[in-house]
Amino acid sequence: MSKTFCALPFQHLCIGPEGTARVCCVAHDLVSEHGAPMSLNIHTMDEIWNSAYMRNVRRGMLKGERISACEVCYESEAASGQSYRTHTGLEPISGRRQSAATLAKYGAAAGFRVDQRRASSSSRSAISAI
Ligand code: SF4
Repeated sequence: MSKTFCALPFQHLCIGPEGTARVCCVAHDLVSEHGAPMSLNIHTMDEIWNSAYMRNVRRGMLKGERISACEVCYESEAASGQSYRTHTGLEPISGRRQSAATLAKYGAAAGFRVDQRRASSSSRSAISAI
């Protein structure tokens, strides 16, 4: 597995109160298009989720490229060997069954689009329990 891979851009998006998005809650950069931040005030969730930005992040991670939005994790790993990526990004998010390797394979096969899929029975249970 690539040292830059993280499962979060394959199954997670952080949306700010103003509608802008980041690949996760600790990432620096906003998801952008033509140099401007994308926002749910203007774009659909699918347009943001499968934007060129998000697809390039997923593609780059699997090629071992450093993603500018993820520098916070690379710097943390250089300093301590640990980061949000190593704690959270290499494990499937709670309630999801896909492993990091499965997500990587699925993303590559789909041209780094990640289409909506039915929630697993365990994630439906987790959601209904909230
Ligand atoms: S590598 Fe770090 S900053 Fe990038 S998506 Fe994963 S947890 Fe977030």
